Amino acid sequence: MSNPTDSATSDLLIFRLRDIVGAENVLTQASDTATYTTDWTQQHTGDTIAVVRPASTNDVSAIVKLCAAAGVAVVPQGGRTGLCGGGVPIAGQPSVILSLTRMNAIRSLDPEGRTVVAEAGVVLETLHERALEHGLIFPLMFGAKGSCTIGGNLSTNAGGSNVVRYGNTRELCLGIEAVLPDGSVINALTGLRKDNTGYDLKDLLIGAEGTLGIITAAVFKLFPEPGARATAFLSVASMEAAIRILNTIQDRTGSAVEAFEYMPKQTVDAILAAFPDMRPPLQEPAETGILLEVASSRPADAQVMEDGSIRFQNDLMDILADLIEEGHVLDAMLARSEQQRRDLWRMRESTLEAITRFGPSYHLDISLPLAKIAAFVEEIDTATREMGFLPLTVGHLGDGNLHYALAAAEGSVWEELPLEKASTIAYAALSRLNGSFSAEHGIGQSKLKVMKKLKEPAQVSVMHAIKKALDPQNIMNPGKLLPPEI
Ligand SMILES: Cc1cc2nc3c(=O)[nH]c(=O)nc-3n(C[C@H](O)[C@H](O)[C@H](O)COP(=O)(O)OP(=O)(O)OC[C@H]3O[C@@H](n4cnc5c(N)ncnc54)[C@H](O)[C@@H]3O)c2cc1C
Repeated sequence: MSNPTDSATSDLLIFRLRDIVGAENVLTQASDTATYTTDWTQQHTGDTIAVVRPASTNDVSAIVKLCAAAGVAVVPQGGRTGLCGGGVPIAGQPSVILSLTRMNAIRSLDPEGRTVVAEAGVVLETLHERALEHGLIFPLMFGAKGSCTIGGNLSTNAGGSNVVRYGNTRELCLGIEAVLPDGSVINALTGLRKDNTGYDLKDLLIGAEGTLGIITAAVFKLFPEPGARATAFLSVASMEAAIRILNTIQDRTGSAVEAFEYMPKQTVDAILAAFPDMRPPLQEPAETGILLEVASSRPADAQVMEDGSIRFQNDLMDILADLIEEGHVLDAMLARSEQQRRDLWRMRESTLEAITRFGPSYHLDISLPLAKIAAFVEEIDTATREMGFLPLTVGHLGDGNLHYALAAAEGSVWEELPLEKASTIAYAALSRLNGSFSAEHGIGQSKLKVMKKLKEPAQVSVMHAIKKALDPQNIMNPGKLLPPEI
């Protein structure tokens, strides 16, 4: 409890917080709060007066009102897998961490309407499992699915590997329940697909990283579970060829591409080095590798043919054969069993951990128009390699998103590499090619400098005006997302 608020105020606040949620749900000892005050990247740490764990929306409202009256900041937290330091307090600001993990009920699931109402603390993978029990899917999918929560997913507008087909979290959400900075509650959980009754407040809170209020529950769209899937690892001729391949497969399958993930050779090498039990997907390593998944819920596509093969997989093989003939695809491995499919996805979802094990690295989470990606990768791979970096890139190529990580090449010393120069060149190329400097991880604390530099000032001004209108005291997750006004 080393926040610069006076201890009488803190003691009274803790006393009242205990009154709301019970003493066992107000953590104040450093040994209990330590895991909540450091983020996943270990780059951001902040002090807290207490970690509070509410069980209901009423609890959240009472806590927010109490903190507002005491002038103490509220930092919402879900699964703590955010990669930009958004979920931990900033230094010098008396703060309470509000952990939503006890609010983990799935309030209702409507199989007919294909919607689900879930509380903010529901773990993403739990939502996957509950939907599957009804033959439905919730398609938001990425490596942190076993720990991240839907509150965090909404607040960062998370993306992942299935955005190419289903959109990001914003597009999957039909409404939210939230507690605003004055403690009032908005309840927009009707699940209506059409409701043009004014400003769409859910869209303000989605992607706001907890700076405008606390999301306590949401209603999401569900989709039919695909009965047929085809998953393959491709070696493709070039990045340009990859985009052509994506479009051909979309055209010939009726837009059935669920994932189209870029995995170049150096990244696959780093994964195989970090996880020796994994096997290379192809005999000849792919310079430009793609993890592809297509899926269909049409019963005819799941038909088992006389030779035991699946019709949908055969259709994909036909398309790939044509692409091989045309020289766009060099080699392909189709997963013939669920285990082979899981192995491919395990490799993809282990990328971040493998890069972390590789050594220090600098991460860019960027997006570009599809037609410009090849030019960006060519230019920045060449420039950064010349400086002594090894680009360990991976990406949701199907939606134009690259996770561009710069590590030290063999023979380079990380501390001596010109990181500032490399990032300046990369951001300049992004601006020139109409890209975004934050595709899906948000801004948090770590992207504030680049936000200030690259985001259009007129848009930042509007964001400040919205923030002041909803949170005039600046108590909701201060020091995140918005660069300070001059
Ligand atoms: C291995 C790995 C892979 C990842 N892959 C992807 C990926 O492919 N795509 C992607 O988009 N992200 C990815 N991430 C990042 C991360 O998982 C997402 O940002 C996720 O949405 C964060 O959810 P969380 O519950 O962990 O949120 P936290 O980290 O706890 O919080 C994130 C932000 O949301 C705010 N917040 C949390 N809950 C609430 C709430 N209820 N109301 C208001 N604000 C709230 C916090 O204050 C913070 O600003 C990955 C992370 C890891 C570790």
